Amino acid sequence: MQKILLCWLAVIVISCGPAKTDSVLTKPVMDKYANQIKTEDLKEHLYLLASDILEGRETGGKRQKMAVNYFTAYYEHLGLLAPEAYPDYTQLIPQEYFENKSKGDSQNVLAYIKGSEFPNEVVVISAHYDHLGMKDDEVYNGADDNASGSSALMELAESFQMAKKQGYGPKRSILFLHVTGEEIGLYGSKYYTEHPVFSLDSTVVDLNVDMVGRIDEKHLDKKEYIYLIGSGRISKDLHNLTEKVNREHTKLKLDYTYDAPNDPENYFRRSDQYNFAINNIPVIFFFNGSHEDYHQTSDTADKIDFDLLALRTRLVFLTAWEISNRKERIVLDAK
Ligand SMILES: [Zn+2]
Repeated sequence: MQKILLCWLAVIVISCGPAKTDSVLTKPVMDKYANQIKTEDLKEHLYLLASDILEGRETGGKRQKMAVNYFTAYYEHLGLLAPEAYPDYTQLIPQEYFENKSKGDSQNVLAYIKGSEFPNEVVVISAHYDHLGMKDDEVYNGADDNASGSSALMELAESFQMAKKQGYGPKRSILFLHVTGEEIGLYGSKYYTEHPVFSLDSTVVDLNVDMVGRIDEKHLDKKEYIYLIGSGRISKDLHNLTEKVNREHTKLKLDYTYDAPNDPENYFRRSDQYNFAINNIPVIFFFNGSHEDYHQTSDTADKIDFDLLALRTRLVFLTAWEISNRKERIVLDAK
């Protein structure tokens, strides 16, 4: 079946010449690579990251480093590039930076794919991997928060890299950014924006994925949904783009409840996208909403809906694909 599909794609490529992003080709190609985001792979990553062995991935803790090693070995295996300044994929953040809230030094993990036409422009996809650690001998596994987003990032990288190897590499660069210190005050993303590997002027967007594996109370009867926060605050163009991609591909219900400027929860400021937004970089925060296990020891891997996690990850993939391959850079609204 796959072979037939490949031949069919090859015929179209040949008949259309070198313009591989012609609309006739775009949708099947996008779907092909989006569908490489696999439930089973997400499961494997998530169960490891949220296991008791990692002791809740507390910022600067010894076991958090195991997550770092897991990411870096994976990106090396995939053949993703490490930034010149951080050849082992890790951006070290000294303990002092965390204002006495961390157990020690900690790291952001950065791996990227170089764009073919606009290599200096970058699409950032971020997810924090730290969580609350342990209290009274109990592990806070943080399966949804945010082993889900961390696993999503790994799958996104794999799909983009596969596309690149098969001749469909992105026109803009894509940086996969695993940030630390989120739970204690968004420190990892703050540090990154103060020490970016692509200048902030060249940073086209931040797609931040934090808690994407669960279903909140409001959506129990119709679970194919995701909250988008911030998508239209800096760029209506970005908002329209993700709406279109979702309409044509993933067909999730996009819920903007938490995007209301006066929303009491103020989630817009509560995850890592905020540090990009304050630098006038368009952002989207992908989020499943809160639930009874939020910041409890009961946020465990067995409660994740992996099919839904895969579907939401595909929306992030397709959004990033469109942004990185479109001729025009995402347009900022007039101030
Ligand atoms: Zn989180």
